[in-house]
Amino acid sequence: MNVLIVEDERNLADAICKILKDEGFRADVTYDGTTGFSLSKTGMYDAIVLDVMLPGMDGLEIVREIRRAGISTPVLMLTARTSTADKVDGLDAGADDYMTKPFETVELLARLRALTRRTGDVIIEEASFGDLRLDLATHDLSCGERSVHLSGKEFEVMKMLMSSSARVVSKQDLLARVWGGSAEASENSVEAYISFLRKKINHVHSKVQITTLRMLGYRLEVIE
Ligand code: CA
Repeated sequence: MNVLIVEDERNLADAICKILKDEGFRADVTYDGTTGFSLSKTGMYDAIVLDVMLPGMDGLEIVREIRRAGISTPVLMLTARTSTADKVDGLDAGADDYMTKPFETVELLARLRALTRRTGDVIIEEASFGDLRLDLATHDLSCGERSVHLSGKEFEVMKMLMSSSARVVSKQDLLARVWGGSAEASENSVEAYISFLRKKINHVHSKVQITTLRMLGYRLEVIE
């Protein structure tokens, strides 16, 4: 298991890293939020231990952004604060669990094991919404017995819509995440891909539809 530790208290970060390595995990450490975000976004980790107060980008922002980008890596937040509101903020932002500092190392290990078990050890292989399933390995979109293959960009757009569940995803977000802010891409590109996806969703006879919210963006809905 490969764990990323994002914690600016160097002694604590290094101590966690050593404990994990002693237990046979692989672990990388970074002391700042910006690097932590870049590494988290790669999706190459099985779990992330994330401090809340960090230089560069704070832990809440990091978890919110990686969830928006469709990264489902389990996140264990470390918080020095003890108020219930702060814990709720972390979980709302998309963290899976939290621990209040200081903590016992055995508890940290137990929670990391529980988090990675929950997602089937390493990778979530499928995303879903309503009766639609998206295979993250083959890029096949299916509903019941019917299935259709998605092209690279179609897949990225669909994955983002699914990972946002029923929340609205703006065209700007799609452009930034899927096209990486490329100069050739425009809102028309997004519209074109949404249209391709709608055809494919129809093709598999799904009850899910991509709803356009004027000036806001898109969201998935189940039409009964
Ligand atoms: Ca800190």
